[in-house]
Amino acid sequence: MGTIYLDHAATTALDPRVLEAMLPYFTAEYGNASSIYTLGRHAMQAIDRSREQVAEVIHSRPTEIAFVGCGSESDNLAIKGMAFAAQKKGNHIITSSIEHHAVLHTCEYLDRFGFKTTYLPVDEYATVNPDDVGRAITDQTVLVSVMYANNEVGTIEPIAEIGRICRAKKVPFHVDAVQAGGAIPIDVVALNVDMLSLSAHKFYGPKGMGILYTRQGIRILPQMQGGSQERGRRAGTENVAGIVGTATALQLAQQEMAQVTPRITALRDRLIERVLTIPRSRLTGHPTNRLPNNASFCFEGVEGESILLSLDMLGIAASTGSACTSGSVDPSHVLIAMGLAPEWSHGSLRLTLGKDNTEADIDAVASALPNIVEKVRSLGLSVGV
Ligand code: PLP
Repeated sequence: MGTIYLDHAATTALDPRVLEAMLPYFTAEYGNASSIYTLGRHAMQAIDRSREQVAEVIHSRPTEIAFVGCGSESDNLAIKGMAFAAQKKGNHIITSSIEHHAVLHTCEYLDRFGFKTTYLPVDEYATVNPDDVGRAITDQTVLVSVMYANNEVGTIEPIAEIGRICRAKKVPFHVDAVQAGGAIPIDVVALNVDMLSLSAHKFYGPKGMGILYTRQGIRILPQMQGGSQERGRRAGTENVAGIVGTATALQLAQQEMAQVTPRITALRDRLIERVLTIPRSRLTGHPTNRLPNNASFCFEGVEGESILLSLDMLGIAASTGSACTSGSVDPSHVLIAMGLAPEWSHGSLRLTLGKDNTEADIDAVASALPNIVEKVRSLGLSVGV
């Protein structure tokens, strides 16, 4: 039996059509985009085309798109780039308590340089209240960063509304849209955002490729010194194959969204309905305002890792929300921020669907889970979990 892959929020397989588009740039078209002879110009033309493709999908201008090394780099560049550029204006950053570590750890790092961060609370569904953003803004605030959709529980945040508030108060607004990219439409104009981060491997593109959108007129300081690639936003010879793959993948995801989303949503809802028949189980994240592919749960009185291992033995790849550090399992900061008690937050399970999942995949996991949870729970109780 092959793997039933239900961890698409972690990463996705490269789409064969994306690989095909990338291949020439590993071999025949190996020019450096900065070289002025024909081979170099081919590389630059491929990058320019890719920039146009990405811009069209997210409704920006091509010049507002920078290709970077991953989603984490994009978040780092946006946050540090803005903080250091605006250091003379103020030292206050606002973010939410449920961000990815690429954002949270970057804000913590900036503490060392005299910045102070406000971490906004969320409600039980992991939703940020836009009014909290408005209330937190001071005359020292140089940046607000809130994610489009949460990577653990799938909740979609009220980005357009937060953006409206930031725009009115003239505070730059960054959005980590890594989980939203390829899954839901992104329109940087309608969302009122100034910077937005994407990662290609979340939408069937290559690993190690990210995008940073920076609205025209927004100035950030580059975080890597060297050549002046990407209009001075990032030094380093461009990864032409990666860039072509990123743009192709994003465009395909956009073209196929109307067809894929209803199918995945129906599978997700079927999965949620069946899993919630398990005693002492609950859905985490917003019941309706969530990513089409995210089904995440907590089971009271069990360790999520034990469920994962049991699923793995059946060839099912899933995830918990927890970060596991040197043998100790800490409950996820997202579930804690949502107010879940430890008996629940330790037993988290995230199942994230992809375009190739079938009804049979869903039925296999839904049939296996009740027994697994029951078994793990009885074992857990005997060792006092
Ligand atoms: N932001 C979010 C919300 C993510 O889910 C991830 C990856 O899981 C990242 C940032 C980091 O992206 P990358 O793996 O490309 O560095």
